[in-house]
Amino acid sequence: MSERDTHRTIPLADLRQAGLSLPTGQAPVSGTGALADSLGRPLRDLRISVTDRCNFRCSYCMPKEVFDANYAYLPHASLLSFEEITRLARQFVAHGVQKIRLTGGEPLLRKNLERLIEQLANLRTLQGQPLDITLTTNGSLLARKAQSLKDAGLQRVTVSLDGLDDAVFRRMNDVDFAVADVLAGIEVARQVGLGPIKVNMVVKRASNDQEILPMARYFKGSGIVLRFIEYMDVGATNGWRMDQVVPSAEVVRRIQAELPLLALEPSAAGETAQRWGYAAAAGLHDADAGEIGVISSVTRAFCGDCNRARLSTEGKLYLCLFAQDGYDLKPLLRGAASDAALASAIGQIWQGRSDRYSELRSSLPADSGSGPRRVEMSYIGG
Ligand code: SAM
Ligand code: SF4
Ligand code: SF4
Repeated sequence: MSERDTHRTIPLADLRQAGLSLPTGQAPVSGTGALADSLGRPLRDLRISVTDRCNFRCSYCMPKEVFDANYAYLPHASLLSFEEITRLARQFVAHGVQKIRLTGGEPLLRKNLERLIEQLANLRTLQGQPLDITLTTNGSLLARKAQSLKDAGLQRVTVSLDGLDDAVFRRMNDVDFAVADVLAGIEVARQVGLGPIKVNMVVKRASNDQEILPMARYFKGSGIVLRFIEYMDVGATNGWRMDQVVPSAEVVRRIQAELPLLALEPSAAGETAQRWGYAAAAGLHDADAGEIGVISSVTRAFCGDCNRARLSTEGKLYLCLFAQDGYDLKPLLRGAASDAALASAIGQIWQGRSDRYSELRSSLPADSGSGPRRVEMSYIGG
């Protein structure tokens, strides 16, 4: 039996039923913005998955053989409503969250998403500022929706695009979706002012690594920041292998060979990407040419300042992208819990956080497919 067959014997839906027990017997934790986890990391960034469905079947995320016609997606009744999401988001903001990223699955498949954005845009940080609200999308519906998203209060978008060669991209998304349609979505997003736009490219060796340079050339000087993401061992269905990872250092080297780069300072604490600017002839950063980013989740752990929490479509709080399970907040939400009780539960969970998977990865046994399984990225979002 192959590794993938072994994986298939455990229905994914069963894994989602579990849920970690909420902490009990601890002192209440109110939202003061001073919250820190057990490694001293604050809570600043909340990623909210609004659907577990997607119209793409990227092999590294939702391979067709697993996410087929028989796959059991979450039933509608178990999805958090927009009001429930906003109520939870308010408690996260009370604990110091300043940035919200909507994700999925494909977030633009969630009906009336603009209504959620309107509600989230009304929230204010502890300093009285609007939140930084953004969204990660595969771009397939962006041309159609960019204006209404902007009108609802979305500030910017990150668009995933794994290559410019149509044959390569169609193979990567595995639903025969054309590059031109994603580029058209990016263009409309730019026209309506959903910026600064970022483009994410997952690099998988022998699948799309030949697209690194064409992508760099295309987006250089466009005002769009292209970010290269190392192919990660998230979930349990993509059959990940280390030899399919193209280390960020190699990506930078391959671009450098044609387009000189220089390292830039991080623009914010907890930033996932290392920044590289295109160099001018004098060896200074050429701001007009712009920059790229590399996200080295596999070769260079950045758990030390990870300030990100993830809320699944059905209301589970995940403390790490590689977590096996989350804390189910829905019973609190749908029970009689007050806002203070919700905030306290979130605070207590975060205080107990010690996750640092990427830092520990190299010392963990290789995933044989038989141990406890990590949650899928399409379920908690990127
Ligand atoms: N569907 C949207 C999209 O593709 O942008 C949002 C959800 S997707 C799970 C979020 C991000 O995760 C995308 O940029 C995607 O490329 C990235 N991603 C998914 N699986 C990955 C993997 N195994 N390794 C690295 N990045 C991955
Ligand atoms: Fe869908 Fe995004 Fe996953 Fe691709 S990466 S299958 S577009 S959720
Ligand atoms: Fe954060 Fe977990 Fe990624 Fe480390 S492995 S950076 S703790 S999400």
